[in-house]
Amino acid sequence: MTSIKQPKPAAILDRDGVLNYDDNYVGHPEKIRWMPNAAKAVKRLNDAGYHVFVFTNQSGVARGYFTEAELNTLLDWMRSELAKDGARIDDVRYCPHHPSGTVEGYLEDHPWRKPKPGMILDLMQHWPVITKGSFVIGDRDSDIEAATAAHLPGFLFAGGDLDAFVADILKGQISLR
Ligand SMILES: [Mg+2]
Repeated sequence: MTSIKQPKPAAILDRDGVLNYDDNYVGHPEKIRWMPNAAKAVKRLNDAGYHVFVFTNQSGVARGYFTEAELNTLLDWMRSELAKDGARIDDVRYCPHHPSGTVEGYLEDHPWRKPKPGMILDLMQHWPVITKGSFVIGDRDSDIEAATAAHLPGFLFAGGDLDAFVADILKGQISLR
């Protein structure tokens, strides 16, 4: 079966503080506390015809709190947990680097680290993204700054029901058309 990636707008979500609570350097499945209705929100975006991407700073790797392999295991686990509820994350970008880390090989001031837009730009290079209608959700100013630098609207999420927040965004997007 050939899979042709359809051009679609993208919903680009931060991880910590959006899909799950930001409990500081979450590197293992047992530390994940899901945001209320996280899977419903992702499924809503799938069903509305968006690519759903995650972009996440993970300096815990550079700081030696968890390895990149552990991070990948966690991200795979999160995607499979969401999939149980019919929710699909199409792709993930993470930035393991931090200039004040301690782990050799991860100490670069990397262009993917938010507030820089590198992760968003990389996703948009690898997928057929329709810019109009695309947006970012994050819980920090650095998420919104990354969105702005990539010329996308950014919505600041304060926590709570993620699906209700996404539903409101989609209503606004529809009314803009
Ligand atoms: Mg965050």
